[in-house]
Amino acid sequence: MHNAAYRDMGLDAVYLAASVPAHRLGEALRGLRTLGFLGANLTLPLKEAALPYLDELEEPASTLRAVNTVREVGGRLVGSNTDATGWLRSWEEQIGEPLEGRRVLLLGAGGAARAIFWALAMRGAGPILVMNRDHDRAAALVEDLGRRLRTASRAMVLDSDLFGSELGPGTVVINCTPVGMSPHTEESPVVWPRPLPPGVVACDLIYNPLNSLFLATARRRGARVMGGLGMLVHQAAAAIELWTGRRPSLEVMRRAALRALRGSYHESGARPASRP
Ligand code: NAP
Repeated sequence: MHNAAYRDMGLDAVYLAASVPAHRLGEALRGLRTLGFLGANLTLPLKEAALPYLDELEEPASTLRAVNTVREVGGRLVGSNTDATGWLRSWEEQIGEPLEGRRVLLLGAGGAARAIFWALAMRGAGPILVMNRDHDRAAALVEDLGRRLRTASRAMVLDSDLFGSELGPGTVVINCTPVGMSPHTEESPVVWPRPLPPGVVACDLIYNPLNSLFLATARRRGARVMGGLGMLVHQAAAAIELWTGRRPSLEVMRRAALRALRGSYHESGARPASRP
């Protein structure tokens, strides 16, 4: 996805994957400067481990205490988080409905759920009900971000009966757990009630498969749906903008991501689903 974008932009650059143990992350980040890298992306579990090695954090990385994009600005290493922007841009592109005052059920309370909570709070969504397998983690998220971002929110345990009773007309439901991800495509984080209230929007952060069981069932029952591929492409595009000051082609990136995903479906033996 990145390399396709660079080729399309005529950039003499290449994106490489490196597996860095957390205890050597400081060396790796300092090495970026020495090697003349434009920057780096970080994924789990390095998003939080990077904080001590950075000179500056931009919002929302400073609120979320998690970084997925690093770049050098005037000799200083700056950490950003493009996950929240990526999700918001995907929402605007695919759903486009106002989020202000919107009731949200957020499934999961990990790093991605925190980023989405921030994005929702920036748009004035609420109340946000954070449902997690581990109730204490949901409560910690609500206590931390709900209070700091002044967003009406509540923690609940992830349970299908509770979920059904909290769904109302126009509720936005966002799956921020890995439940349903390939190869466990027959799983869903919740059982959707039948019938669904009108105006429900179901979002999954999972992009493999493109059309998870969670999304497919919601769509069959009349909900609008949004998969995780848009967020994946937009968070990467936002990182490229930070590194180069230029906007890459989203279409080129989306096509490259789909090609890569088809390869992984082939390898896992799972069947590709239609584009969400
Ligand atoms: P994380 O920090 O490890 O959090 C995982 C969350 O999922 C936790 O709330 C955990 O609950 C919950 N969970 C895990 N297994 C579960 C299960 N079997 N049943 C119920 N809940 C379960 O991971 P993350 O970074 O937030 O990522 C979450 C998902 O979002 C992943 O699938 C990831 O691929 C996806 N993601 C997608 C994008 C994108 O661009 N589309 C970006 C970021 C993340 P407990 O607290 O109870 O353990």
